[in-house]
Amino acid sequence: MSKWNLIVDVAECTNCQLCTLSAMDEYVGNDWPGVSAPMPRHGHRWIDILQNERGQAPTIDIAYVPVTCNHCDNAPCVEKGKGAVRKRDDGIVIFDPAKAKGRKDLVDACPYGHVWWNEELQLPQAWPFDAHLIDQGWDKTRGHQACPTGAMRAIKVEDAEMARLARDEQLETMKPELGTRPRVYYKNLWRYSKCFIAGSVAAEANGAVDCVEGARARLLKDGAEVATALTDNYGDFKFDKLIPESGRYTIEISAFGRSRTVDATLGKSVSLGEIRL
Ligand code: SF4
Ligand code: SF4
Repeated sequence: MSKWNLIVDVAECTNCQLCTLSAMDEYVGNDWPGVSAPMPRHGHRWIDILQNERGQAPTIDIAYVPVTCNHCDNAPCVEKGKGAVRKRDDGIVIFDPAKAKGRKDLVDACPYGHVWWNEELQLPQAWPFDAHLIDQGWDKTRGHQACPTGAMRAIKVEDAEMARLARDEQLETMKPELGTRPRVYYKNLWRYSKCFIAGSVAAEANGAVDCVEGARARLLKDGAEVATALTDNYGDFKFDKLIPESGRYTIEISAFGRSRTVDATLGKSVSLGEIRL
């Protein structure tokens, strides 16, 4: 049987927040029996956008990551809910608006923090994948429909096909080590979760300083080569997808018989600025 999944391309998300707003438009003040009681007007973001700024001037980038209930296949909330949270055959997880009443303990059952407590209704709530619309025949969610860049798309496929897509498109899920088996997948998540070391190579010639195109940059860790790169026509190089807090690296730069060695420590992303040969 085919099931629902959400695929988010971090590289395409512009933080326009239309997915967040469309969820609010769909649920604030609206009761969808069996799927969701109304979302409060303030305080809940069933589709939220995380943000990570990497680097320092002059090399900075920002990644935006929409997050929501992952509709996990091995969901702790379903386990703990004992009937108050159910897993549908199409993969969607529903916090039952009647049976979950008073179950504040289910907020902490989610290891992702994607369950919101509705104080007025005494209800735990999470984004229900627009199940009421799906049941009316919708072939996408409101967030998918609203997304202007194609960063968010909901797809219904067999699990084997989803596994193939995840492999082919190098999709990741959040915290796979928890074993919850999320149905929300991310492309280019490294733009949020990984670090870079970047710099700009320049050299003096005939009394003028100019950027050096085609300089060779080697990234070394504990004396072993991790990666190599050539500087572009602005003299820039960037080693990306490095592990945060992974410690000390050495960068060797060489061009036209000159060389220079620089150290960097991750931490977070590092912009080395100008490196003069
Ligand atoms: S993300 Fe949290 S609330 Fe959603 S299914 Fe997984 S454990 Fe449950
Ligand atoms: S609507 Fe699309 S581009 Fe805008 S924040 Fe959501 S996922 Fe990102």
